[in-house]
Amino acid sequence: MNLAIIGAQWGDEGKGKIVDLLAPHFDIVTRYQGGHNAGHTVIIRREGVEQKFVLHLIPSGITHAGKTCVIGNGVVVDPRALLHEMDELRGQGIEVSPSNLLVSNRAHLILPYHVALDRAIEASRGGNAVGTTMRGIGPAYEDKMARRGLRAGDLTEPSTLAEKLTQSARQANRLLSVLGGEPIDEKMLIEDGMRWCDLLSPHICDTTYYLNRSARAGRSLLLEGAQATMLDIDHGTYPFVTSSNSSIGGACTGAGIPPSLISMTIGVIKAYTTRVGGGPFPTELNDSLGEEIRARGGEYGASTGRPRRTGWFDAVVARYAVMVNGLNAMALTKLDVLDDLDEIRICTGYRINGHETDQVPYDAGQMSAAEPVYESMPGWREKTVGIQKIADLPAKARDYVDRLSELSGAPFAFVSTGAERNETIISADLLGRYGLQLDI
Ligand code: GDP
Repeated sequence: MNLAIIGAQWGDEGKGKIVDLLAPHFDIVTRYQGGHNAGHTVIIRREGVEQKFVLHLIPSGITHAGKTCVIGNGVVVDPRALLHEMDELRGQGIEVSPSNLLVSNRAHLILPYHVALDRAIEASRGGNAVGTTMRGIGPAYEDKMARRGLRAGDLTEPSTLAEKLTQSARQANRLLSVLGGEPIDEKMLIEDGMRWCDLLSPHICDTTYYLNRSARAGRSLLLEGAQATMLDIDHGTYPFVTSSNSSIGGACTGAGIPPSLISMTIGVIKAYTTRVGGGPFPTELNDSLGEEIRARGGEYGASTGRPRRTGWFDAVVARYAVMVNGLNAMALTKLDVLDDLDEIRICTGYRINGHETDQVPYDAGQMSAAEPVYESMPGWREKTVGIQKIADLPAKARDYVDRLSELSGAPFAFVSTGAERNETIISADLLGRYGLQLDI
């Protein structure tokens, strides 16, 4: 069976933990979109010692021996970031070799001038900045769509690489001079390019054939989403979105596999909501409660350290994510973060310019104007940390979980009650219906 994992809010839902938990049950783990702006934090206890891995580009499956990790064609790859992450993992005792890490030859490259362009473009937007991570991801996707990008496959052809890099750098430098950005040193770029060619070529191949042939030969695929539905370039709160399709369609185009090969799609969703950077966020709490949730949930960006904005669970967003992705189930994370609250609110609809709606408006301006319509539930005020059985949850916590599922329109396959793998309630029955047997 092949499973896709998607973020159902604005990212940072804890996809890393869920993917890490599932990875041992799959043969191949694939990233299909985004770049090293994603940040999965995975905490693993190995031989009694807690180890923390922060993964930006490499699928979280890499921490498990015997798995193949694939960076699919829909990902944009910064060779410097990839090499750095490979080195870090090796330094933590993880094997990273051409036998367990493959990079699609169709994946577009993020080159140093993309980073310079990202900075220059964000600076020129002033107060309307998108709040990008300044890692060149948007400009690299722009080049891809403008059909002038360089791809990982170009790194496997050293005889033509220098010429391609020179042309691209010249074009980018012309644009940078108009925008007032820092120009790129062509010579240095070519030297770097040749080094990346040596180090990365053994990992680069046609992963589209690899994934399709593997799936047809009965190997199981886990598709690991980065970012989330509300950050999708088409379906998110445009323009405060990422530059790729982070909803289910992106899993197919970004891995090169057909929808018919995906047996199940699970959306990861927090028991409350967070968002990084600018853009509408109807249930945001700009008060001491929001601060408390941020502190308790450790809501600081894994990639950037930026404090995340926090707010109540938004069932309008959840229902939208269920619809757009056809979620068969969801994974609810960070329930334990709400343990101390007296009252918990759930947004069931929006009031926009006096009209009530249960839909996500297409326009970010309207979404910003949305006042949440709340229903309230009593807090459980008991520790849920580490609970592994739904029956062991306090009754009020269980009511909350049931209500979220009812309002969202999908059942929970997982309820996460802590950062560690085993701090999870798993609905083995539900997963079994889609052919996924977890021997827990
Ligand atoms: P991702 O990008 O969606 O993987 O999310 P992040 O990794 O940025 O954020 C998730 C953070 O929450 C990580 O530090 C996880 O270890 C932690 N985490 C995941 N699930 C839970 C949970 O159920 N409870 C608590 N307290 N922490 C969790």
